[in-house]
Amino acid sequence: MAIEHYAVIGAGTMGNGIAHLAALTGRSVTLVDIAQEYLDRALSTIEKNLGRQVKKEVIDQQAADDAIARIAPTLNLEDAEGADLVIEAVLETFDMKSEVWRKLDEIAKEDAILATNTSSISITRLAALTGRPQQFIGMHFFNPVPMMTLVEVIRGYSTDDATTEAVMAEAKALGKTPVEVHDYPGFVSNRVLMPMINESVYALMEGVADRDAIDTVMKLGMAHPMGPLTLADFIGLEVCLDIMEVLHRELGDPKYRPCPLLRKMVAAGHLGRKTGIGFYNYTQ
Ligand code: NAD
Repeated sequence: MAIEHYAVIGAGTMGNGIAHLAALTGRSVTLVDIAQEYLDRALSTIEKNLGRQVKKEVIDQQAADDAIARIAPTLNLEDAEGADLVIEAVLETFDMKSEVWRKLDEIAKEDAILATNTSSISITRLAALTGRPQQFIGMHFFNPVPMMTLVEVIRGYSTDDATTEAVMAEAKALGKTPVEVHDYPGFVSNRVLMPMINESVYALMEGVADRDAIDTVMKLGMAHPMGPLTLADFIGLEVCLDIMEVLHRELGDPKYRPCPLLRKMVAAGHLGRKTGIGFYNYTQ
């Protein structure tokens, strides 16, 4: 089946990036959210980001205009009906996603591919909410979507080969490099990244080194583009904590226990860039 029409559910950070990329690749996109202001904000972000690509001469103005014209914003989930590929990018809670997927299972056409952009929730568990788990898959994009080239393609327990092959091919058509992984907590990306961030917070808490030293060691010694504490601030400390909780709970190994300092900073509301303070201060 050719994938020509997307429904992107959730027009936040990830949803607007996915809509941008798909529309620029020539797909028509139904973009769904729960309030007009979120849709307006998403469209203006997409327009701004397309404008940036025009300025850098990555695309021309006509391509940007055509992309915008291919996106149909809506508050009505039922408009996902005609989509060949439904990508859900609502908030990272099981309750929120399960409510959306139960409805989408009624709405999406019979042969639609059902994909979630979750970072940490079990694909198998979400797939089991639908009557067609063989067509359900993880399509994990990275932020900012138009720039980051990886798509982690996660097979749930029941995902069939046809669905996996179609999604791998579609990710390539979008200009990305898809990597196929299996459905275990944190997949590969967060299974490796989050323990590294968590360990950096332990190193800070135990006084192994100060914040700048930890980040500098990882930047200069390991050629990481940013240090782990800077990266944690960028991702959001509550997101890091949530994912560590998932790894700890679902793998049951004490090596994944979230660092007490990470917990304390989240409790204090020091979540990183979004609150103006985390390991670094962004208010000055
Ligand atoms: P976000 O908060 O920026 O956006 C979520 C959007 O979903 C909001 O606009 C919200 O109004 C909308 N929404 C909520 N309920 C809805 C519903 N019932 N129907 C339609 N829309 C609804 O979140 P985000 O950062 O874009 O994250 C979305 C998903 O992508 C999460 O599962 C997250 O784990 C995953 N993810 C995020 C990142 C990242 O760096 N932000 C990276 C990879 C994956």
